[in-house]
Amino acid sequence: MSVSHCMGRALKIARLPVGQWPDEVAKLPEDCAHADCSAPRSCRKRIGAYLAIQRGILRDRPAPARGRR
Ligand SMILES: [Zn+2]
Repeated sequence: MSVSHCMGRALKIARLPVGQWPDEVAKLPEDCAHADCSAPRSCRKRIGAYLAIQRGILRDRPAPARGRR
């Protein structure tokens, strides 16, 4: 399994602070010319979905111990 061009972009965005993700995703093309972006054939949708998962993972990470007994 190889990482497509489009996912390469997703990984680049994933390295930025989460607050910048929406802006970066908005800059992505809605239509993708690469065959790797098969379903859905949209960088923005595909990467947006990928980042939404990543953000979910980040959010699930235990917050700094606060009021822990
Ligand atoms: Zn794409």
